[in-house]
Amino acid sequence: MRRFTLLSVVAVLAMTASACVSNAQGGSTASASSSSHAQKILTNTSSVSSSSSSLPAPAAKPVSFHIPILVYHHIRPTAGYPKTTWSWKMSVTPSVFAKQMQWLEDHHYTTISLDTFVKIAKGEMRGPEKPIVITFDDNNENVFVSGFPILKKHWFTATWYVITSRIDKSKDSLSSAQIKELSQAGMDIQSHSVTHPWLTSLSVSQQKWELDESRKTIEALTGKPVRHLAYPLTMQNAQVRSVVSQEGYVTGTIMDPRPATQKDDLLKLPRIMMTDDTGLAQALP
Ligand SMILES: [Zn+2]
Repeated sequence: MRRFTLLSVVAVLAMTASACVSNAQGGSTASASSSSHAQKILTNTSSVSSSSSSLPAPAAKPVSFHIPILVYHHIRPTAGYPKTTWSWKMSVTPSVFAKQMQWLEDHHYTTISLDTFVKIAKGEMRGPEKPIVITFDDNNENVFVSGFPILKKHWFTATWYVITSRIDKSKDSLSSAQIKELSQAGMDIQSHSVTHPWLTSLSVSQQKWELDESRKTIEALTGKPVRHLAYPLTMQNAQVRSVVSQEGYVTGTIMDPRPATQKDDLLKLPRIMMTDDTGLAQALP
């Protein structure tokens, strides 16, 4: 049994290393024709998370880390939105998004899932040299149209937090078919609640319903576990975090423009909100 466990750990580490090396190499050679290869890499990354979830947790070690978590809402033209409006603050243009992803690749960042983030944070695995988490909130279809191809080009993975009541409800929102396609390509689909409420203003039973129902809907679509939440409107408090934890969620994310470190509560992880003006060189460690 012990030998099997050791071999499994070695296998997982080897797969992780392979995924990281491939990601690092992806930049100069990636092209539209390599999309099938890209999907293989993304699938490999995903399988690391699922296959290692059954391993017994090693003893916790003190860890120190700086891992930026980026959050995007819309990828669309921003002309016409004054910079004081939320429409501008929640958008980047397709060309800016492409430049930001190219910058990450040029600076040798490796995109990781939140499951991998948690393993690094708990000292259960060594991450890549420069890990980063990319997230998208609110199911906006323009992200699928303008962002997904660029992620694939760079062999990046990302976490897509979806509001399940909006699935298939309008042409501007992700469809269930698109969500399945994202998941099958190695993207991580996680919860942004059912109805996008202020969780802090709900009863405990209503909070649990938002957490449980959104998870069931996503897991039925993807066949993969949901254990990460983006708090709608970034609203949370100790009571909400307690219910989120009781319901089996491992991380919760808010907006706070700095990288996550070992000092952060996993249920209150900071995310850097991305706009056309965000300078990655200044925002990242
Ligand atoms: Zn939202």
